[in-house]
Amino acid sequence: MAFVNEHYLKLSAGYLFPEIARRVAAFAAERPDVAREIIRCGIGDVTEALPQCAVQAMHQATDELADRATFKGYGPGSGYDSVRGAIAQGDFRSRGLDVADDEIFLSDGSKGDCGSILEILGAGNRLAVTDPVYPVYVDANVMFGNAGAAMAGGGYEGITYLACHEANGFLADVPSDDATDASGARVPAPDVIYLCSPNNPTGTVMDRARLTAWVAYARKHRALLFWDAAYEAYNRDADAPRSVYEIPGARDCAIEFRSFSKSGGFTGVRCGYTVLPKSVMAYTRAGVAVALHPLWMRRWNTRSNGVSYAVQRAAESLYSAEGRAQVGALVDFYMENARILREGAMQLGWKTWGGENAPYVWCKTPAGYDSWQFFDRLLREARVVTTPGAGFGRCGEGYFRISAFNSRANVEEVVRRLGNLQRSEQLQALEPV
Ligand code: PLP
Repeated sequence: MAFVNEHYLKLSAGYLFPEIARRVAAFAAERPDVAREIIRCGIGDVTEALPQCAVQAMHQATDELADRATFKGYGPGSGYDSVRGAIAQGDFRSRGLDVADDEIFLSDGSKGDCGSILEILGAGNRLAVTDPVYPVYVDANVMFGNAGAAMAGGGYEGITYLACHEANGFLADVPSDDATDASGARVPAPDVIYLCSPNNPTGTVMDRARLTAWVAYARKHRALLFWDAAYEAYNRDADAPRSVYEIPGARDCAIEFRSFSKSGGFTGVRCGYTVLPKSVMAYTRAGVAVALHPLWMRRWNTRSNGVSYAVQRAAESLYSAEGRAQVGALVDFYMENARILREGAMQLGWKTWGGENAPYVWCKTPAGYDSWQFFDRLLREARVVTTPGAGFGRCGEGYFRISAFNSRANVEEVVRRLGNLQRSEQLQALEPV
């Protein structure tokens, strides 16, 4: 008899984006006359063409593969040395950060890495995530057995949710050592903490002082920080670290996840990487410190033959002088979209966050609507797809996210339609927030 991983059975309702897709498809089937007008600002998927340097690198790699003399078969599981070197130099050492080439592990994107890193940790680590949060962290931990049952109203037992709300600027506060839950019981310190900055979904960035406090907390509790920097390229705030390794001591307790999806437009190409410093430790039940780097290396060599050659070459090309300029132009394009959306929402009187250091604008729903109700309203009446904040956690209720990944024309049209909706008879009856 084959046994199933019963942790999968704990997963509550489907993943957020399939539910959005289901609602959009249902509306399109109901109203085929307007289906073509739907503008998707929900899922954060890029829309613009790949940087030319990446296209050329892939063409060139294909030519190499077409010639027996330059053909490549299996490559190293964690990436070609030259690519790891370009990343370590380009993203870290050139900014004064101590990261060695062999501390970079290439992958097909950071969504997978955020979950598969759990393979080298013991079962039963106590997880802390922000609320609202990128849902992948939670679901991956549920699948690995690091959570209890789904709770009514959202979330899972056994996970520490770090509430992010207007009062703390949607940034996770470091828990106090004697934090208690609703029943007065002491909440144990988390063992693994996911932090994401620039943040998906709120678009906020974590300041240096707060991240310094998180590093101190992790070191004190021998916990691990998982720093998801998928949107690092969008961070323009000099006081917000672009890498966790800007904080002294982070090399002992932090693993960083990066992606080329939102910097190089690689959502379809698929490439990202993990930084795992050799000094990061986890512990046996007997309290013996074990370096995670060799385990992660072992895991890669056993579970994968790495990222495709052409894709690695494309990633490497982003670090050339022309590659940097092209990535910069792409990011600037989406950031201008974010500015248009943010200012548009603010002009409607909506309270907004993000959009200045991230490609997401986080808005408060008008009074009288919860976030799925307002999602439906925007879909049906403005034919604009957003993401309801409740899909990211309890604290996301009452908010929604607009993605800046779209064409300029669509972004301008979204602002126009939101304005029309706001001015329409029905919404005028509502108080803008
Ligand atoms: N981390 C965050 C916070 C994201 O929003 C995303 C994608 O949207 C990812 C990771 C995954 O990126 P990738 O395309 O590299 O898998």
